[in-house]
Amino acid sequence: MTVPDQHPTFEDLELLVEVSQLLTLQDLNTVMERVIALTASAVGAGKSSLFLLDGVRVDWDYIFTARALNATESIRVVSKVLDQGLAGWVVRNKEAALVLDTKTDDRWHTFPDDTRLVRSALCVPFLYNDQVVAVLTLDHPEPNHFTAYQLRLMKIITNQATVAIRNAQLFRGLHEKQRQLEAVLRSVPDVLMVTDSDGEVIMVNQGALDVLGFSTPDEAIGKPFVDYGTRSDVIRIILSAFEEQEIGSGLSLDVRSEKTGSDYAVVITTWDEQNSRSGGYVIAMHNVTTLKDLFRFKDEMLRIASHDLRSPLATIAGYTDMLDLDTPPDSPLRIYTHGIHLSVDRMSMLLEDLLKVRQIDEKGLNLEPNTLLMDIVLPVLQGAQLSAQQKTQTVQYHSTLTADDTGTVDPVLLRQAMENFASNAVKYTPEGGIITLRAFVKDGCFNFEVEDNGIGIPPESLPHVFESFYRVNANANVSVTGAGLGLSLVKSIVERHQGEVWVHSEEGKGSTFGMWVPI
Ligand code: ADP
Repeated sequence: MTVPDQHPTFEDLELLVEVSQLLTLQDLNTVMERVIALTASAVGAGKSSLFLLDGVRVDWDYIFTARALNATESIRVVSKVLDQGLAGWVVRNKEAALVLDTKTDDRWHTFPDDTRLVRSALCVPFLYNDQVVAVLTLDHPEPNHFTAYQLRLMKIITNQATVAIRNAQLFRGLHEKQRQLEAVLRSVPDVLMVTDSDGEVIMVNQGALDVLGFSTPDEAIGKPFVDYGTRSDVIRIILSAFEEQEIGSGLSLDVRSEKTGSDYAVVITTWDEQNSRSGGYVIAMHNVTTLKDLFRFKDEMLRIASHDLRSPLATIAGYTDMLDLDTPPDSPLRIYTHGIHLSVDRMSMLLEDLLKVRQIDEKGLNLEPNTLLMDIVLPVLQGAQLSAQQKTQTVQYHSTLTADDTGTVDPVLLRQAMENFASNAVKYTPEGGIITLRAFVKDGCFNFEVEDNGIGIPPESLPHVFESFYRVNANANVSVTGAGLGLSLVKSIVERHQGEVWVHSEEGKGSTFGMWVPI
């Protein structure tokens, strides 16, 4: 096509229309191929190249040359022209360049290994937000091939094409993000389902397909989530949770599928659609069957231990008593029977604790309204004083409780919890130590604290002391009897009262254990 200077031709207008149609394309490769083909043929260029810049870097995946160079060659050529050639001048000046004769224009750099004959060239930057996002170079073997008019025409075209390239880049970015998200979803072993504001399923992962009994996402997507109640008993339970409660910002529930024998920890969260007050839901189901099985196993063990071991233990104690009857007081056999008695006592204590744990788990609290708090605290104090005497420890008591301080609590269990704090303080404090009990009401809560100046607890153990069977440095503690159940019992009693337990401790200096329960 020949383009007379100054006057746009019908072909020029057609070209503009074709370039504006690039906006409808989403694939970056196609956009770039079309740009290079349209521009090269419009100005009758011999060779042409188009490459994208990402900031100051060249986007090496997107270099297009009319010669279709291979990847390494195009990287080499583009790096060279950007460094010393005409494209580099255009990028630095953010300006189009018309080279009438390469022999007299020093912006054109002839590389020694360049075998092509180039005598004139046209190079145009694609500017977006004042940044060069792409560079188009067109060349010709004869001098004075390109005109100032063509330069203007190319500037107009690149303005339009820039928008098309940016659109395609954005689309590519979105597509990449979506693929990343899909890869993440695929790799998550949990069940994940996402609905839109109308309750229609818009995203599922493999775990969800397995639960719903579909083989491809297309089968699951686009249908109302409520329809899936017929496909899984877990979904049915989730749906009734939707009906019964406000989801608010989220909801967690434990669900068991009787059909498959699997247990799930289900978390439902909401997501907001942009510029809209409505939003959809994300339903995540984490398979916790193994964990639940372990808990069931633990419960079974507790049941066996607390009930079935009690009678053989009583038999051992009974027979040992009978042995004692038949053994003279000075017989060396007495040492052995004494040993048996001690061990039976320790085992009975352990079983007692296990039984209490089970009782709390099974029966819950026996709440009594208007329980006088002082009536719970005083026996604890007396018990502590009694056992502290044996270790020549001093017990201090600070209380602001009055006869008006009452609460709705389980007095028996709460007293047991408080006794546990106190007996631990005596146990883990050397002879002559000081133990301080504090009891008060604050902000509608009953507070009870026990401070000692005993052996303390190392920082790494502190987070675990309230766990079942946890004992700090179990070997060093051999002289002190215990199963590591006391504090876990305290925690579960206090939490059943909607309260909290806490501990501060410094190794070698002492500990303070505290609890508060709303009254
Ligand atoms: P145990 O029956 O072993 O005393 P607990 O559950 O009551 O079990 O306590 C767990 C562990 O916490 C104990 O083994 C002990 O190491 C530590 N501990 C509890 N109370 C104190 C305390 N007052 N001072 C130091 N260590 C303590």
